[in-house]
Amino acid sequence: MDDILIKDALIVTCDGSHSIIENGVMAVSQGKITALEQTGTSAAENLSAKKIVSANGNILMPGLINMHCHAADSLFRGLVENLPLEEWLGRVWIAEKAILTPETTYLGSILGLAENLLSGSTTVMDMFWYPDQTVKAAKDLGMRISTGGIFFDLPGIGGRSHKDFIFEANNFYQKHSSDDSVIPAVLPHGSYTVSPQNLSEAKSIADRHGMLFCTHAAETQAEQNDIKARYDNSVIRHLDKHKLLGETSVLAHCVHLDEKEISLLAQSKTNIVLNPMSNLKLGSGIAPVKAMHRAEINLTIGTDGAISGNDLDMWLAMRLTCGLAKGVNMEADALTAEQVLHMATINGAKALGKSNTLGSLEIGKNADFILVDINNSHSIPLFDPITHLVFGAGRSDVTDVFVSGKHVVKNKKISGLDIEKIHEEVRQLAPSIKASLE
Ligand SMILES: [Zn+2]
Repeated sequence: MDDILIKDALIVTCDGSHSIIENGVMAVSQGKITALEQTGTSAAENLSAKKIVSANGNILMPGLINMHCHAADSLFRGLVENLPLEEWLGRVWIAEKAILTPETTYLGSILGLAENLLSGSTTVMDMFWYPDQTVKAAKDLGMRISTGGIFFDLPGIGGRSHKDFIFEANNFYQKHSSDDSVIPAVLPHGSYTVSPQNLSEAKSIADRHGMLFCTHAAETQAEQNDIKARYDNSVIRHLDKHKLLGETSVLAHCVHLDEKEISLLAQSKTNIVLNPMSNLKLGSGIAPVKAMHRAEINLTIGTDGAISGNDLDMWLAMRLTCGLAKGVNMEADALTAEQVLHMATINGAKALGKSNTLGSLEIGKNADFILVDINNSHSIPLFDPITHLVFGAGRSDVTDVFVSGKHVVKNKKISGLDIEKIHEEVRQLAPSIKASLE
């Protein structure tokens, strides 16, 4: 007998052949998917479980994978507006320095990760100052997290030096590497804030422990100009020169690239995270998604933090990714909804080195899945579920979220903790957050 049966579901598997099972049933046992069948078949009739959940005809699909976030920055949402990245970061860092402690980072991480989870993201890759607090928040909410030690050469939060960051990156691995819900990484901020030598040290820590290496790259033209002035190179050539590209590297943004840089990313099998809302709102530009896709780069999707894009909505990010690629290239088939849905699911799993366990609904994979309401006016009639998910559905349609078979969002409510209590604590903190920039 299985633990859970999800019945009466329109199953969008996100597997390699984009399979859809109409009127399907999925079984889960010990946190893994054990069966996917069409209702009425003898295999489906033989399934039984301790708990039966009716999907009421709604879409059952894998949880989304948000590949770039700074969850705790939700504390500062709306505080710094209408500035380009470089000036904007200067203001953000003043506010972060005044407010962030491990305790406030936990509060902000809960806010940001709860928004992710309620929106249907079951795994988030997060870069932040106190990654142990990010992990604690993710575990309290019952979701999966990829994070780890940050590196930053300028005076950072908590007065930490490069030596401290090295210790913390190694220590993070020791503490969390055996935890199934944590995918450890090393996350230096960027090549304009971390020297080549320190980036290389961060990469060697990542390589030594088999961790991911994640950094911001080629986000703005100003960043390209800065790296050119300092190192007489473009950002991606600079990363390539220092052996920082590769299958375990995850680069956030990649908005400003030339053809050679795209081919370096493709040859090295480097993973890219597109963050369209953040890039639009900061006036950074529009990533050359079609060219990167044609070069067969593994493209994934992220929201960035809530201070740049102002929400952590992967549905908006999917819609923008697809719409912008079509609009900018003036080609209605520049990118398909199927390709974009895969970017938000299985491609993210691939970038995390977890395509065997995450990113699609397939037997043997972790039972990380969501239910999306299609019994509403904007979903009827529904001829093409995948197009609907990318262009018609939104985060308010996500009703239920399961991670490793655990029901962590029930009917749009977080199950694991008292979110109202966290909201109240953040309300108390709000005046000092506002005052930090006055
Ligand atoms: Zn970022």
